[in-house]
Formats: sequence, structure tokens, C-alpha cells
Amino acid sequence: MNRPMPIDLPVLEIIEKNFGGLYSGELGLSSIKGGQTAADQTLAQLDITGYAALRSEVLPKAKRGATVLSPYIRHNLLTLDQVYKAVKSAPYKDREKFRDELYWQEYARHLYARIGTRLFENLRFEANTNVQGDGWNREMSCVDEVVSELETDGWLVNQTRMWLASHWTVRNDFSWQLGQERMYRELIDGSRAANLLGWQWTVGAGTGKPYGFARWQVEKRAPGLCKQCPLSNACPIQEFPEEVSLNRLEVDLLLERDPDPENTSGPKTVIKVDSPKYVLLTIDSMGDDDPALKAHPELPVVFVFNEEALRKLQLSSRRIGFYLETLQDLAQRRNLQVYLGDPYQFARDNSVAVTFAPVPSFKKFQNLAEIYPFLWLQQPKSGSVKSFSAWRKSK
Ligand SMILES: Cc1cc2nc3c(=O)[nH]c(=O)nc-3n(C[C@H](O)[C@H](O)[C@H](O)COP(=O)(O)OP(=O)(O)OC[C@H]3O[C@@H](n4cnc5c(N)ncnc54)[C@H](O)[C@@H]3O)c2cc1C
Repeated sequence: MNRPMPIDLPVLEIIEKNFGGLYSGELGLSSIKGGQTAADQTLAQLDITGYAALRSEVLPKAKRGATVLSPYIRHNLLTLDQVYKAVKSAPYKDREKFRDELYWQEYARHLYARIGTRLFENLRFEANTNVQGDGWNREMSCVDEVVSELETDGWLVNQTRMWLASHWTVRNDFSWQLGQERMYRELIDGSRAANLLGWQWTVGAGTGKPYGFARWQVEKRAPGLCKQCPLSNACPIQEFPEEVSLNRLEVDLLLERDPDPENTSGPKTVIKVDSPKYVLLTIDSMGDDDPALKAHPELPVVFVFNEEALRKLQLSSRRIGFYLETLQDLAQRRNLQVYLGDPYQFARDNSVAVTFAPVPSFKKFQNLAEIYPFLWLQQPKSGSVKSFSAWRKSK
């Protein structure tokens, strides 16, 4: 049963009242605000001068060159195409590096759209997927600082995501799938596509070459942090982890070639079956430019929090807070109804227009009145997706 959820209350109050048993960790919000208005403001202030040199800086925070656009990109409050175009006048080196990263995001989406839940398993090389345990030693200042930021703000620069993934699996030899799940719970930009890709690539399951994390990176990217570490004189990561060669797995033909790219990419034009009475938003497309939303300015808009999925995933309250802020912002412009229950049932029981999402769970939607195309940066093709460079070249 879908239960209506009023959202005209402070966000933390909404979470306390409605989401008991559906989130993990301490109640709190990220400093990164959700919503189209916040996304637009961030984009309007975007200046990537110096990005190429500074994108991996960790501390001091003021020196970071990362743009913090990912939560907005993840939920298509900002499309990759929009962000790509927004940097057209930036210095050449910064623009190229930044656009390359946008392509990594697009690559993650293409890969996940093509192989689906297979991305939860080792892709091409055998990394650890079976040893249980927590791979983050919090007595080390570098790990503690980063995990604290993850837990209190729900966001990390790419560099420290790599530190955490490497420390968990490459150094401590715990299952990367568990580490991935732990990080996914906290990240307000958490997407299966990018998070699974990030873990697979860091631990070597994608490339055969695990990324080693050692004191060297901490001193370079977060100078001063080691001096305050209680283990500074007995640093467990003084040296890089031993280099290992991971066993190569059998070639997966789906990585080489997509027999049905049309199915992977979703419809290229609108599929109309019936007249919709609602626009249904999904987590993958919450922005004002959502194609279904834009096509029906007169229709009420619905968002259904998936209760069963939330109970299982135990996301942080920061993630839920980001969605609620986004919905509160949208409610200022549109007639919005929010429910807790089952989005697939809502779509079965009502006539809805929805935008295709390139994720395996989209298949659970049935009897949709209209399906709008997903806003790709580049249409998925049938060629190889086994590496980023192969994908960039593929036809
Ligand atoms: C272990 C691990 C887990 C990750 N999990 C996620 C995740 O759940 N969601 C997510 O969006 N990204 C994830 N990433 C990718 C990347 O770390 C973040 O997108 C980036 O740090 C976001 O910060 P930003 O917006 O300041 O990025 P910027 O450096 O400013 O880049 C601009 C945009 O490019 C894209 N981008 C940048 N780097 C990458 C990358 N390596 N892979 C894919 N896209 C990239 C993002 O959309 C980002 O917003 C992960 C990376 C690793 C190594």
C-alpha cells in the first residue's frame, strides 16, 4: 500500500516520523543541499580553472579542485550534456580533463545498462569477493578522517574513495563487494553504476592492476595529516602494498559486444500507450528537465519511496535527506505527491508517464502509459565496454 507522506516539514522531522527502520547511522544531513535550485546555483558558479592540477587534492579543503557536482549529476538534476557544455570556455587542459571525467560517468552508465547486475561480480580479474570483515582501520588518521567525512557529509573526492577501496581490499584483503555496499549506503551521489565501477577498477577486478594506497599519497594530497596520526611512527601503510597479479577470468562476450544496443539504451523516441494521469519520477531522474516531467507541465507529479528497497539497503539519513530536499524544492513549482510504498505498484495501478532509467530495476515497471528516452551524453553502441579506452573508441 502506498502511504502519502507530507513533506512540508523540516527534513529531519520527516525522516524521524516516516523512515524508522529504513535508514542506518546517526540522523543528520549533508552540507550539500538537494534540489534543482541548489544544482542550478552550483552550476552557475562552476569555475574549473585549475581542475586538472587540483582535482585530487584532499586537505586543506580550500585547496580542493573537485567540483562537487556528482550528487546533482547522479540524479540528473544536471545532465552530463549540460555540464559538458557549461565548461566550453574553460582553459584547455582543465576542460579536457574534466570532460574526460564526465565520460567516465557516462561509461559507468553504459556498462551498467549493458551488463546489469553482472557488475556486482568480478568483471575481468579475480579480486577478493569472499572474506567478511571491516577493512577500514580507524586508528589511522588518514582512514578515520576520510570515513568520518563519508559518514557525516556523505561525499568524498575521488582520491579518497580510491584510498578507502584500496585499503579495504588491496591492503586488508576483505571482499570489495562488502566495502562497496558500505560506501554506497553513505554516498549522496551513490549510484550502482559509478560505485561498482570505482571499486572494480581500484581493486583491480576491471584492469588486473590493483591501485596501491600508501603514506605517500597522504603526504602528497593531505599534507599535515600524518603528523597528527597516533601511528605516525609505526605507520601500517608506510610502504606500498605488495604488487600482485590477479587471475584473469574467462572472457565475457557481453563486454565485447552488445547484441541488442536498442534494448540497452531504452527508447530513442517517446513510447505512448495510453494517456497518463501522473508523471512518475524515479531516483535516476529527479530534475526539472526530466523528459516526462517537461512534456506534461499540467500533470501532478508523483514520487514513491521504495519501502522494501530502503529496508534492505539501509541508506544513510543523508541520502534520504538529499532526496527530500530535492522533492521539497520541486514542490515549489509543481503539484507533487510523495508516498512511501512501492513505485512499481503505483505504476501498475495508475496511468503514468515515466522517463527510462538505464538500470536493471527499470524492468520492474509494467503497463506504463508513456516512456520517455533517457538523457544520454552519447547513445550506447554495440562495441566493447571492457575498458574505458575501448569504450571511447567503440562504434
Ligand atoms: C571507489 C569509488 C567509488 C565511487 N562511487 C561513486 C558513486 O557512487 N557515484 C558517483 O557519481 N561517482 C562515484 N565515483 C566516481 C568519483 O569518485 C565521483 O564521481 C567524484 O569524486 C565526484 O566528485 P566531483 O563531482 O567533485 O567530481 P569532479 O572531479 O568534479 O568530476 C565531475 C563529474 O565527473 C564525474 N566523475 C568524476 N570522476 C569520476 C569517476 N572516477 N568515475 C565516474 N564518474 C566520475 C562525476 O559525475 C563528477 O561529478 C567513485 C569512485 C571510486 C574510486
